[in-house]
Amino acid sequence: MAGCALDDLLAPLEIVLDQAIRERLEWLGQELLRWNRTHNLTAITDPAEVREKHLADALTLLPLLKGATRLLDLGSGAGFPALPLKLACPALEVVSVDAVGKKIAFQRHVARSLRMTGFTAVHGRAEDLPGSPLCGAGFDVVTARALGSLPLLARLAAPCLVAGGRLIAMKGAEGAAELAAAQTELAVLGFVCTEQHSLRLPVTGAERMLMVLERSLFP
Ligand code: SAH
Repeated sequence: MAGCALDDLLAPLEIVLDQAIRERLEWLGQELLRWNRTHNLTAITDPAEVREKHLADALTLLPLLKGATRLLDLGSGAGFPALPLKLACPALEVVSVDAVGKKIAFQRHVARSLRMTGFTAVHGRAEDLPGSPLCGAGFDVVTARALGSLPLLARLAAPCLVAGGRLIAMKGAEGAAELAAAQTELAVLGFVCTEQHSLRLPVTGAERMLMVLERSLFP
């Protein structure tokens, strides 16, 4: 892809990945744009923007995933952050869910093409996951980007998390105010915010806030 190399985006974010993984990420970006011409999967159509806002943005979660073994990505769209995280952490078991069939078809195409194991793309609603065999014993991390408000994410994530599991919400500049307004509702749902990370994407300077919400109580 033309424009700023993925390496140049990852270095300022202090993310180091093997060349083989970077090549797979680049391929994912190209394939997303190729499918997008006919399937309309994402509003982002510029290769440099795909690298920054889909690939690098998803990878900003990596430092928060230490020790994670099973990750669920809710409302993953064309696979973000699920696919870049799976590529960067091949041993991580990843389930991603989205209500739109063509987005899940793209994710399955990527998983098949790259011969991924431990990656399941589910076509359905997040509300229907709890109690399904896919949920199994639960996930230790649930991620969500651009899916909805913090209380909505908390309601969807809670029944899918193991005891002490974490919801990681990817928000923009509005994240801090949203968190302040949602504190009471989050507490009722048994979540406490244990970490907040503010960062800027390297080229556009777009503000991001990563929020870690730990599920501390169980009904
Ligand atoms: N996380 C992706 C997509 C964000 S758009 C990204 O950041 O690029 C929000 C996505 O959530 C859409 O693809 C929509 O189909 C999906 N979605 C919304 N509500 C949902 C629900 N209840 N269950 C499953 N998917 C849902």
